[in-house]
Amino acid sequence: MTLPAPADEVAPRLWRITTPMPARPPEVHAYLAALDGGGWMLVDGGLNTGAAWSALEAGVRAAAGGWKDVRVHVVTHMHMDHVGLAARVRERSGAAVWMGRLDAERMAHAAAHPDDEADYRAGLLGRCGAPAEMLRTVEEARRGAEPLAPPVTVDGTLDGDAGDIPGAPGWRFAWTPGHTAGHVSLFRPGDRVLIAGDAVLPRITPTLGVNRQRTDPVGDYALALDRLEALSPALVLPGHGRPPEDGVARIRELRTAADGETDTIEALLHTDGRTCWQVVDARYPGREMPVGTRMLALRETLAHLDRLATARRATVRTDDEGAARFARAS
Ligand SMILES: [Zn+2]
Repeated sequence: MTLPAPADEVAPRLWRITTPMPARPPEVHAYLAALDGGGWMLVDGGLNTGAAWSALEAGVRAAAGGWKDVRVHVVTHMHMDHVGLAARVRERSGAAVWMGRLDAERMAHAAAHPDDEADYRAGLLGRCGAPAEMLRTVEEARRGAEPLAPPVTVDGTLDGDAGDIPGAPGWRFAWTPGHTAGHVSLFRPGDRVLIAGDAVLPRITPTLGVNRQRTDPVGDYALALDRLEALSPALVLPGHGRPPEDGVARIRELRTAADGETDTIEALLHTDGRTCWQVVDARYPGREMPVGTRMLALRETLAHLDRLATARRATVRTDDEGAARFARAS
């Protein structure tokens, strides 16, 4: 067996560093870019595990000779497989950490108000019409879980639809919400290379779901893909898996898939109202789902239901238990 190289040069002056994950997907990519005028920019990191840290360090050593010239660290989004090593990277390199504004705010809020998170989950499950034991199971699972990463304070936030990245000449960011509210992708206009984070993945559609920061994450994602397509990237580098052979075609495919999901969920509605919980059961009949998977399915389905209601393709009313009931618009 040949071990993978610690860092692959995937485009001129741009290296990919792959770090392992214990479950699916099996790996996540960080990227390391040599900057015009010297210095390096790291994009993402990996999970906060010893194995991921070793792989990241080996990659940084192979490509940049070590941490000392890594000046900028951009995190595409707040999920643990992308942000988990940020505090260690900062300690080791002193690089300035940048994130999309909404994700930075979300992380700071979650760290400062952990009780809010439980309240939000309870409200969400109530709105979905979930049985009471679901809430108990979710909170028990949470209580057992270790905090996944030490909190990191960002040095600045990337705000607006697109713009320059401070300290990283030659690179721009684009706000690409959907998978998270503050997700950003990075673009090098000189050769039209796109570091897409989880906004564009080769085989699966990134998970989308209701969140408390944006009202229409599915619509957000469609606009994010339009924004990326307009950049006409020559190479699309995803957060997981291989680069798609034709990046623009993949972006278009994901755009169609998001609309297709909304249509699928619309077709599951009746003229009498159904809760999100019932729609998930109809969407995955007979499937046993672990609590985390069920939670994702609820958040994603609710996002599509909200989109249908906003577009007046469905009606919604609140029942006596406080659950939202969606019906096909006649
Ligand atoms: Zn990811």
